[in-house]
Amino acid sequence: MLVVMRVDAQPAEVDQVMARIKEFGNTPVLAPGTERICIGMLGDERGINPDEILLMSGVDRVVPILAPYKLASRDFQPQDTIVVVGDQRIGDPGVVLMAGPCSVESRAQTMELAEMLHGMGVRILRGGAFKPRTSPYAFQGMGENGLQILADVRERFGLAIVTEVMGTDEVELVGQYADMLQIGTRNMQNYRLLEAVGQQPKPVLLKRGMSSTLEELLLAAEYILSAGNRNVVLCERGIRTFERATRYTFDVNAIPMLKLLTHLPVIADPSHGTGRWDLVGPIARAAVAAGADGLIIEVHQHPEEALSDGAQSLRPERCAALIEELRRVSRAIGRDLAPPSAPTRRVA
Ligand code: PEP
Ligand code: MN
Repeated sequence: MLVVMRVDAQPAEVDQVMARIKEFGNTPVLAPGTERICIGMLGDERGINPDEILLMSGVDRVVPILAPYKLASRDFQPQDTIVVVGDQRIGDPGVVLMAGPCSVESRAQTMELAEMLHGMGVRILRGGAFKPRTSPYAFQGMGENGLQILADVRERFGLAIVTEVMGTDEVELVGQYADMLQIGTRNMQNYRLLEAVGQQPKPVLLKRGMSSTLEELLLAAEYILSAGNRNVVLCERGIRTFERATRYTFDVNAIPMLKLLTHLPVIADPSHGTGRWDLVGPIARAAVAAGADGLIIEVHQHPEEALSDGAQSLRPERCAALIEELRRVSRAIGRDLAPPSAPTRRVA
């Protein structure tokens, strides 16, 4: 439920409504950015009598929020959320690019690739140091050494870093190095982890569970938002279907549908969404055309030697060509690529 106060409501009347909501055992939250004061209620609403609130002084309307998620819904916050990572504003008209290797494999690989991506205008580097691998025998990532390499890349090129956090016990460590914490598809419903990233200040990239509905994705986002962190970016990364020709089926519907349901920015991962480097370009273009606020793309200098996800990794020169195509697609729909505007530190 959302309590819409009258335009001339007095602070004391707002306080009374907030106090009453608390008496009902719910948490009142002010909805941001609206012309008049709107108060949302978080918690089990079954015990609340809307008629009673409607009769309170200063109250104009009581609007039901029908979706099970509240803070994530467009009803609660009509205007788009903008999540700032480094010098990039995700959710603005500028389409934000994140690119990098699936895994941080070595200092030399990461530094060289970061320099190339920086030259292409990319300002957010992706790269996993803690890797959620299907097999326990596969490369598990470089751990904290990988995080240190990512931090050195930021220091050298001014790139912001997005990297995955797999467990609650890693949140503090990863948060010390990363500019944005990634929750992978396999952890989208790890509720303790969602709460933990909700209680720390870094923005969160929440990837859709490979078998999750959009409602489940938004409820996962709600865990982070309700724990106090409003900087959540959603990512469509492909789902399980009966189709086996591609690794996952990229759900392009999810992009415009999520933009209707939520104010949170939505980005696309065409690398995991297809599992094939030769489909990454077409699906990246489709995602931007469908309204994605950004893309996260895997790139590797030598995909055939990559320790993870080589088959879906673009070579740097293909990535550069794709970025120019994405610039044209964004302009065709009245957007553009986010400018790599702010000067970045660049040590020769
Ligand atoms: C990744 O980004 O490398 C990754 C493991 O993604 P996902 O969780 O979507 O599989
Ligand atoms: Mn990967």
